[in-house]
Amino acid sequence: MNLTNINTVREVMSRHGFNFSKGLGQNFIINPDICPKIAEMGNACKGYGVLEIGTGIGVLTKELALRADKVSAVEIDKRLMPVLAETLGEIDNIKIYNEDVMKADLRKIIAEDFRGLRAAVCANLPYYITSPIIMMLLESRLPVDSITVMVQKEAAQRLCAKVGSRDSGAITIGVNYYGTVRKLFDVSRGSFMPSPNVDSAVIRIDLNHEARLDEEHEKFFFSMVKAGFSQRRKTLANALSSQLGMEKAAVYDALSALGINENVRIEALTMEELIAVSGELMKSK
Ligand code: SAM
Repeated sequence: MNLTNINTVREVMSRHGFNFSKGLGQNFIINPDICPKIAEMGNACKGYGVLEIGTGIGVLTKELALRADKVSAVEIDKRLMPVLAETLGEIDNIKIYNEDVMKADLRKIIAEDFRGLRAAVCANLPYYITSPIIMMLLESRLPVDSITVMVQKEAAQRLCAKVGSRDSGAITIGVNYYGTVRKLFDVSRGSFMPSPNVDSAVIRIDLNHEARLDEEHEKFFFSMVKAGFSQRRKTLANALSSQLGMEKAAVYDALSALGINENVRIEALTMEELIAVSGELMKSK
């Protein structure tokens, strides 16, 4: 079945009485060039198990399964289960979990389904929850080599921004802390059904599994990063005092011990500076 043919997609959907849920970010890929490219650039190959998030009607799932040894996919929408049974039912290296990815035990899925294989994540992410999913994947330190995902262009810009630049955000720090990120290619809005109001891009994060900080420091580092960026227009001292209840004087002391201006905003700090500031603040906790 050709899942990038609009008429085929419409027929399957109407047979199952399925209509798109905007709330679940359901924009399905109909451009035939996109899914093979995501699969090929996202480690879907022999020796790999691929975890997919959000199958839709299975257009990407199918391309992943053609190349990887196994595909396990998590899809929240129960209405898609009978659709997927029809569209992917004959492919035997796919397993679908009808679950919310934010609640699923991904570590267990990877351990059980991908025994003896390397693992990677590939997805066309639901836009309403892009950053939480990426942060969750990173913070849970899953044993995956790469995360290759389609996101809205704005999110791609944020993800691929330089740390210490105005375009950066908490998610920028996250991806650069846990690995390296690069944009693979742009995707126009016309490549989807229904067509969203913005263009998209596919990015790939390659994970570095060496722990950079000990567990306690890492936890504090990310609470500082999230607090700082949640009030990014404020100075770091003001943001940390209002978000984390820290003494402003303690923040000033930490910054001046490192030779950093007391009125700095979080977006101006490099990764090394952020780590150093969090280390100083840990001492005063
Ligand atoms: N992979 C398909 C494609 O490219 O055509 C569908 C991509 S669509 C942008 C996102 C998919 O994620 C939808 O099928 C939606 O139902 C699913 N989804 C949304 N929220 C989810 C969640 N919390 N957990 C798992 N799947 C979710």
